[in-house]
Amino acid sequence: MSDETTLELLLIEDTEADALLIRRRLEQAGMNARIHRVDRTESVVEAMEAQMWDAVLYDYTLPGMHFADTVELLRSKRPELPVILVSGTVSEELAINLLNHGLSDFVLKDSLLRLPGVIRRAVDNAGERTRRQAAEDQLRKLAMVVEQSPTSIIITDTTPAIEYVNKAFVETTGYSREEVLGRNPSILNRGQTPPTTYAELWATIAQGVVWKGEFRNTRKNGSTYLEMATIAPIRQPDGRITHYVAVKTDITELRDSEARIHRLINFDDLTGLPNRALLLDRLRQVGLTVQRSGQHGVILVLDVDGFKFINDMHGYQAGNCVLSSIAARLTANLPEHSIIGRIGANRFAVVIEDLSRQHERAAAQAHDLAELLHEQLQEPHLVDGVDGSVRHATTMGLYLITREREKPDRLLNKAEIALQRARDDSRNTWQFFNPEMQSLVEQRSHLEAGLHQALENREFRLFFQSQFDADGKLTGAEALLRWFRPDGEIVPPDHFIPLAEDTGLILPIGEWVLEVACRQLREWSTHPETSGLSLAVNISARQFHQPNFIESLARKLKAFKVTADHLVLELTESVVLNNLLEAEERMRAIRDLGVRLALDDFGTGFSSLAYLQHLPFHILKIDRSFVSNMTSDNSSAAIVRATIAMGHALDLKVTAEGVEVQEELDLLRRFGCDAYQGFLFARPVAAENWTPTGAKLA
Ligand code: C2E
Ligand code: CA
Ligand code: CA
Repeated sequence: MSDETTLELLLIEDTEADALLIRRRLEQAGMNARIHRVDRTESVVEAMEAQMWDAVLYDYTLPGMHFADTVELLRSKRPELPVILVSGTVSEELAINLLNHGLSDFVLKDSLLRLPGVIRRAVDNAGERTRRQAAEDQLRKLAMVVEQSPTSIIITDTTPAIEYVNKAFVETTGYSREEVLGRNPSILNRGQTPPTTYAELWATIAQGVVWKGEFRNTRKNGSTYLEMATIAPIRQPDGRITHYVAVKTDITELRDSEARIHRLINFDDLTGLPNRALLLDRLRQVGLTVQRSGQHGVILVLDVDGFKFINDMHGYQAGNCVLSSIAARLTANLPEHSIIGRIGANRFAVVIEDLSRQHERAAAQAHDLAELLHEQLQEPHLVDGVDGSVRHATTMGLYLITREREKPDRLLNKAEIALQRARDDSRNTWQFFNPEMQSLVEQRSHLEAGLHQALENREFRLFFQSQFDADGKLTGAEALLRWFRPDGEIVPPDHFIPLAEDTGLILPIGEWVLEVACRQLREWSTHPETSGLSLAVNISARQFHQPNFIESLARKLKAFKVTADHLVLELTESVVLNNLLEAEERMRAIRDLGVRLALDDFGTGFSSLAYLQHLPFHILKIDRSFVSNMTSDNSSAAIVRATIAMGHALDLKVTAEGVEVQEELDLLRRFGCDAYQGFLFARPVAAENWTPTGAKLA
C-alpha cells in the first residue's frame, strides 16, 4: 500500500484520551491516516454503511458490547476488513481465542509503538486476500461454467492423455469420468473420421494454432454423432505448450435439421422428388455439363391432364395417389442419372443430359423418350378406395438443351411454352419448342410409320449407277437404294437410312440389298457382255457389326454362285473406326471370302492413311465434295492428287465419285485416277432399266 493513500480507520474507543494517544502514535510513525472515533453500537452500524474503511481499531473494553457480536457485525458488512484489537490487557489465551474469531491482530496499549506496523501489515494482507479471493471466486465460477457447459470440454496433456472432462462430455459419450481419465481422446474415434482430419489437427495445434473441424465419433453404446470441435493449445507463461483444450458441440441434430430444412425447401413432400427450385438448380449444372461435353440435353415437362377432375371425382387422396404413382413410373423408366422433379400441382419435369452430339439424333432420342413416357403413363393407376382404376391423358413439352448458354429458367420456360403449344394443338401429345426439331421429328415419325411395312410391301428398289475405267470402259456399278412410298414419294437413302439404323430396320433392309445384288451378279455372269462386271453395295455400320454378317454373306455368295471378287462392299471410315480391332478382323474374313472392300467417302472423316495401311481395302473412293471442288479450289485438287498417289503407294485402286463435268474428268485422268462414277457418265437408274453401255469420252 503506497504512503500517498490516506488510510481511513474506524476507531471504536470510549476514551478520548486513548484515541488521542493512538492518533499521535500514528502521526509520529508518519502514517497518513484519518481516524474516525465511535463509542456506541448505533454509531458503529452507521459508520459501517460507509464501506470506506481500511481497518477497524477496537478497544475490547467498550462498555455494553460483547466482542464476538461486534466482530460478527463488522464481518457481516465487510468480511475482509482487518479488525485490530487495541486493548489495555489481554491474556495470551484470550488473544488466540479472539484471533480464531476473525481478529486480524492485537496491540497492547502499553506497546502502541507496534501499532503503525500492525495496521500496515493488516491492510496489506487484507488487500492481498481480497485479490486472491476475487481470483478464487472467478476460478470457481469458471470451473462451474466449464463443468456445467452444454458443450463437451476435454483437457488433455500433450501425450495426449485426458486430464479433465466435463459433465456434457459424460452425457454425450456415455463414458464416465473414471473410464476416460488418463486415456487418449481417440477412444471416441472408430474410423468414421477421415485420417486426414487428424493429420491436419495435429499439424495445426503442434504449431500452437487453434484448430476447428468436425469429427464423426462413436459413443460408448456404439451410436455415432457429428461433432464440431475447437481445439486449442494451452501455453504456460514461458511459452511451453502443456495442455490442449477441446470444446466440442454435438451437431448431429443441427445437421439433421439442416437436412430437414433442405428437404422442405427443395423437395416435394408427396413424391419426394425435387421441386421447382431444386430442379432449376440442377438445370444450371446440366447446362454446364452440356457445354463441356458437347452432347445434347433435353428438358421435358409433362402435365397430368384432367387432374382436377380426378380430385373432384375421387377425392384429393386419390389425386395424391395418382401423383405418387406417376413419380414412381417416371423413376422406374428413366435412366438412373436423369433428373425428375415435380414442379407444379400436376406438372412434372424430366431432364437428361447425355443425348447424342448430333442434333438430329438427339431430337430423335428426345422424341423416343417422350414416346416411352407417354406409353408408360397411359397405363391406368390403381388407387386405393377407387373402384377400378384411374386413367388420365398426358401432355408434354420438350426443349433440346444445346451448347448455347441459356439460363435455367429460360430452359424450363421454353419447355413449358412447348407444352402449352402441344395443349393448343390437340393433335399432338407432345411438342418441341425448337421448331426445326419439331419438323425433323414430325418428318421422322412420318417416315418411321411407313418404314416398318416398306420391306414387306416391296416398296424398296435398287438403282444402279455405272462405273468406268480411265478409257470409258464399263467396269461395273454401285447399287443405290430407293424407297417408293405408296403415296408416290421417292425417298432418297440419306433420309431414311439413319432412321433405319436407329430402329434396327437396317438389318433386314441390308440383307435384302445384298441378296438382290448377289442375284444380279448371278444374272450378269450368264451374259458375256456383263459377266466380268462388279457390283458395289453400301454396308452400314450396324449391318457390318451384326454377329452373323460374315456367315450370311458367305451363304449368299454360295447360294447365288457369285464370283466373290465381283462383289464390292463399301464401308465408310466411321464403320471401321468405331471398333477398329473387330472391324479389322471382319474385314480380313471378308477378304478371305474373296470379296473386295472399298473405303467410301474418303476425305470426309479422319482420313488418316496411316491406319488404312493395316486394313485390307482394295479400293479408295474419293468423296464427291473433293471432286466437285477440285476445279475451283486448288487445295481440293492437291488433296485429290495426293490421295491418288498415296492410294497407289498402298496398292489401292482409286475411284472418283460424283464426276459431273469434263474438267473434273481431265484433272482426275491427269492425276492417274483408276475409276470414275458420276452424272457425267451415268445417273443411277432402276436395275431393270440399267444397260451395260460404255462411256464415250472426249
Ligand atoms: P454414296 O455411297 O456416297 O453414294 C453416292 C451418292 O452420290 C448417291 O446418292 C448417288 O446418287 C450420288 N451421286 C452419284 N454421282 C453423282 C454426281 O455426279 N453428282 C451428284 N451430285 N451426286 C452423285 P444416293 O443414291 O442418294 O445415296 C446416298 C447415300 O445413301 C449413299 O452415298 C450411301 O451412303 C447411302 N446408301 C445408298 N444405298 C444404300 C444401301 O443400299 N445401303 C446403305 N447402307 N446405304 C446406302
Ligand atoms: Ca457408296
Ligand atoms: Ca460415297
